[in-house]
Amino acid sequence: METMAREQLGELQSARLIQQVRRAYRQVPFYREQMQKLGLLPEEVRSIDDLCKLPFITKQDMRDNYPYGLFAVPLAEIVRLHASSGTTGKHTVVGYTSRDLGIWSEVMARTLTAAGASKQSFIQVAYGYGLFTGGLGAHYGAEAIGASVIPASSGNTQRQIMLMKDFGTTMLACTPSYALFIAETMHEMGIDPQELSLTAGVFGAEPWSQKMRLEIEKALSIKAFDIYGLSEIIGPGVASECSCQNGLHVNEDHFYPEIIDPLTGQSLPYGEKGELVLTTLTKEGMPMLRYRTRDLTILHSEPCACGRTLVRMSKVLGRSDDMLIIRGVNVFPSQVESVLLGLGETSPHYQLLVDRIDNLDNLTVLVEMTENMFSDEIRRLEVLEHKIEAELASALSVSAKVRLVSPKTIERSEGKAKRVIDKRNI
Ligand SMILES: [Zn+2]
Repeated sequence: METMAREQLGELQSARLIQQVRRAYRQVPFYREQMQKLGLLPEEVRSIDDLCKLPFITKQDMRDNYPYGLFAVPLAEIVRLHASSGTTGKHTVVGYTSRDLGIWSEVMARTLTAAGASKQSFIQVAYGYGLFTGGLGAHYGAEAIGASVIPASSGNTQRQIMLMKDFGTTMLACTPSYALFIAETMHEMGIDPQELSLTAGVFGAEPWSQKMRLEIEKALSIKAFDIYGLSEIIGPGVASECSCQNGLHVNEDHFYPEIIDPLTGQSLPYGEKGELVLTTLTKEGMPMLRYRTRDLTILHSEPCACGRTLVRMSKVLGRSDDMLIIRGVNVFPSQVESVLLGLGETSPHYQLLVDRIDNLDNLTVLVEMTENMFSDEIRRLEVLEHKIEAELASALSVSAKVRLVSPKTIERSEGKAKRVIDKRNI
């Protein structure tokens, strides 16, 4: 599949798309209504070239159909649920059939194999296990290869290092920022990474730069590979780097990538920067037709030296919305806003400061006090800070530090408020 001739791949994609569109039209009221609005019948999608006739689907549509409205099979056929956080605190839910899980294992097996894994590998999965797709996605991919999986999950860094050392871990799977944190802790513990069996790592779930790659490779004495995915499509396994480390090959036999102008929605050719739109070609549980990822990237169709014919996407270059990814968790400024408005004890003026300290993302929320709070005693303000912190932690699923600031100190804007100051150099 990964080295198929482009023409043959196009035929396969067309055949799969036709099936996918018909099924979505028949089984999912949302798709049927959207297509009817455009006066489009499923029979009019005859090849992959007709994909652009279909409307887009967005995260908002997922929220509107929460939790199971976009499923295309009876609930009894769903064998796994995952979720990611959204703007309103409500998660976006995804459902997998048993066949979907098989495809997910397959694309994750490709991802790990491209990074050098084999049956002989010991793969330590330090992504979180749970509703987040990172942990279980990597886990099943590693098992599909026949590698030995070490399901460490995230956190407990000293134990991670002990496992690496004692179990002979050869490949690490986690977020890139966590990889750097592990490297630092290792250094503090006086362990030389050269003593370990670690040779490679697959890192994703947050954007990272070439500079960070070099840092990780040096600090852990490994090759660091970028992997890409999102729960809405399947989880990790949508695209991944090969040994050339020159863009991420998209598993196009299952996920069809397009690039659009985020403002006009017009399709852009290969080589141009725009928003990535993905269509699942084989997913049964929850087909996604033209999902707007909001991730900005470029698709490259030039042949790759590794022999794979699948197109490559560049590292994610940013977002077309205001979503932040903090320690692998999606955070929207509007979530912070609804917490503050819900408490109603401060002014509604706030700002998110994001920084990477000791290789870990740190979120600080500045909240303006009202004039009458300003004269309150420090003790009372501290209590309020902690109260907001607790509310935010539960709404965002990631911890944030809250700092109350004097009235009128957060810059006012005449247009769109500047809600986020991102100081991370990624
Ligand atoms: Zn390649």
